[in-house]
Order: sequence, then structure tokens, then C-alpha cells
Amino acid sequence: MQRGAGLVMIDRDGVINEDSGDFIKSVAEWRPIRGSLEAIAALHRAGWRVAVVTNQSGIGRGLYDEATLAKIHDHMRERVRDAGGELAGVYYCPHLPEDDCACRKPRPGMFRVLERELGVSVRGAPYIGDRISDVEAAEGVGARPILVRTGSGAATEALLDARRVPVFDDLAAAARSLLAEAR
Ligand SMILES: [Mg+2]
Ligand SMILES: [Zn+2]
Repeated sequence: MQRGAGLVMIDRDGVINEDSGDFIKSVAEWRPIRGSLEAIAALHRAGWRVAVVTNQSGIGRGLYDEATLAKIHDHMRERVRDAGGELAGVYYCPHLPEDDCACRKPRPGMFRVLERELGVSVRGAPYIGDRISDVEAAEGVGARPILVRTGSGAATEALLDARRVPVFDDLAAAARSLLAEAR
């Protein structure tokens, strides 16, 4: 089936950059996973709009502030641009799990903001993540969950049992698959 290029959404930590149990608190701690920037660039060149959707409870925990997160995201955008790509949007939830907000994945809030801002529907669009909350968030808004084995992905894969979610080694492999299916 031809789906063609459209919107593709990507989780940040453990998918685009190396995750850390201590959170990514500074630009210096933001280190791209091998091949991830090139994968975003390849999707962009093929006509995909690439958006990042990420839980950032480190803000709610007081580990870094919004200004620092903005710096990290400016840096990420710059690194993506250097690789030849572009991010259509970066959406984050700053809240703690116990804040009971509408945006923390697996809840749909960030996806609704994305839809309003980018003027697209997330229905059917791939969402590439490494945690069960990413899979559940995608399913909750009718998007198409894709799991990668980087970050927490290998552990998540073991929890998926019979769930029919495609799994790839990393973002580069997931992007190659999307590009191949759009051809
Ligand atoms: Mg993640
Ligand atoms: Zn939130």
C-alpha cells in the first residue's frame, strides 16, 4: 500500500538522542544516537514533516528549566539542520506524572497541540518511540506506533507480547522502512 510522505512524529530521549536515567539536563548532555540526525534529514528530503513529541518531567522535578530546555531544543534543531534536515515542531510536556496533566504521554494533549499548530491530523501518522507510553499514546490518538530498540526500546519490546507493533533497531532503520514504503 502506498502511503506516501506525510507527518512523522518522533520521541526524543532514547530515539533521537541517548537517554539517561539522570535526565538530559544540558546541551552538553544531549548526544545524538548514531544515524538519527541523518535519518531525520532523509525523511525531510523525501517530503516528510518531522515533529518531536517528548515528555520532559525533568522540568517539573526542578532538574532544569524551560530556558535550558529551549537551548537544548535549539541545539537539536541546529544539529538536524547541519545534517540537512528540518524539524516542523518540537512538543514537550514539562509536568510530573502526579500532576495529572492532559499532555504527558500516553495522554493525547501534545498531539492535539501539534494538530492545531501544524494543521494536520495525527491519525495514521507514524510515531516512533522507545517506551510503552509511546506505543499507548500513538494508539490513543489513532497514530501508528513504531518501536525502536534504542533507549528503553529493547526492554519495551519484551513487554509488547502479541501486540502488533513494528520494531526496528534504531531510528535510522525505522526511517529506511518508511522511505521504502513511500516509494
Ligand atoms: Mg523515549
Ligand atoms: Zn503535561
